[in-house]
Parts: sequence; structure tokens; C-alpha cells
Amino acid sequence: MKVLTYHSIGMPPPEAKLKTLYVKPSVFKRQINTLRFLGYRFLSVDHLLKGNAPRKSVLLTFDDAYLDFWENAFPLLKEYKIPAVVFVPAMLVGKFNQWDHQRVNVKKLIMDWQQLRELTKAGIEIGSHSLTHPYLSKIPREKAKREIEDSKKLLEDKLGVQIRAFCYPYGDYNHEVRDLVMQAGYLMAFTTKAGSFEQSENLFEIRRITVFGNDFILKLLLKILL
Ligand SMILES: [Zn+2]
Repeated sequence: MKVLTYHSIGMPPPEAKLKTLYVKPSVFKRQINTLRFLGYRFLSVDHLLKGNAPRKSVLLTFDDAYLDFWENAFPLLKEYKIPAVVFVPAMLVGKFNQWDHQRVNVKKLIMDWQQLRELTKAGIEIGSHSLTHPYLSKIPREKAKREIEDSKKLLEDKLGVQIRAFCYPYGDYNHEVRDLVMQAGYLMAFTTKAGSFEQSENLFEIRRITVFGNDFILKLLLKILL
């Protein structure tokens, strides 16, 4: 089983750097339709917790909770009743990518609380992506602890649902950070290490496959198959 990582679903603005992290809406739709056509199952966090993850299945994850998820991915997922996980930097809800807007040369809007509530109602799982998207292994332990614990509390207070999944910002973690995530009461955590779900060391170091905007459909299928 493969967990797929998406960032932006939309057209990259001309000035944007790291354009490969944008998947065009038409390409996204083709990817989903191809996987459906091939008989792939779309899993939810519940499947993973129950250990029910057949080989020919995928879990869709979306990092950073950008507004373009709401505009370009959610309508399709809703139509097909496909589950997904959206990882939210909890202090930046309704704001923008303050952690890397200079590096990528674009201010990308992040969904607001109302939109996140709509997502949870429609069966989209909300996960924590920390409070402010720092490198968790490079800040003092107490600060990392707050990023991990307080983001869970804030999301739970605002959305009224249990926050079960965490995603390490930049994929940056070490054993100490991982243990903080476990102790905070999360049930699983996602990395940027490549590989299948089965290859993951444990539920707090889940491997994923990043989908790039320039992955043509055959390349994506190979990434999912291999
Ligand atoms: Zn991120």
C-alpha cells in the first residue's frame, strides 16, 4: 500500500519556485480516475489503524492545507467519496505559508476554520502539521513539544474532532521528536521518507510517495507499483 503526498493542487503562478510541487487540477483528476479505473482502493486512517491495508490501495495525504485543496481537490474527492488526510499548520489557519513564502516566492493561502469544519463533515481527516511548520529536530525540545501538543489541542478545540495523525514539517524528525508525537496522543505520524506503508518502521514513521506535477501518469503508476 502506498501513501501519496500532495502539496498544491493548482496551476503554479509564473513567479513560483518549486513548481513541481503543484499538480494541475486536470492532472490530479486523471490520476484519480486512472487509479479508480485500475481498481485501486482509497483508504482512510481507520483502515491503517485496523491493519486493513491491502496491497492494491492508496491513502491520499495533502500537506499544508492550502486553499487550492478546497478549490481543486475537495470537490472531486467529495463526488467520488474518496477519503483523504489534510495536514494543517494549526497557527496558520486562514493565513499563508509563512515558513517558506520567501523561498518559494509565493504566498499560498491556507484554508480557514470554516472550510476545515466542512472537510471534517464530509469525511476528510484533519491531521496536525505542527503549529508553525518548524524543523522540529532543530528547535529546543520544549518548543517542539508545544508545537506537537498544542497543535493537537487547538485543532481539536476548533474542529470538535479527535486529531489522530501528525505529519513532520519538512519530513524532519529524530527519535526524540517521534517520541514526543507518540506521547502527545497521536496514533500515527507521516514522514517524507520514500517507500511503501509496509516498509515503514512503525506507525510513527510512515513512508510516503510524493506526487510531483511533472510525474506523467505512467511514472506515477510505476511509483505506486514498485
Ligand atoms: Zn509542510
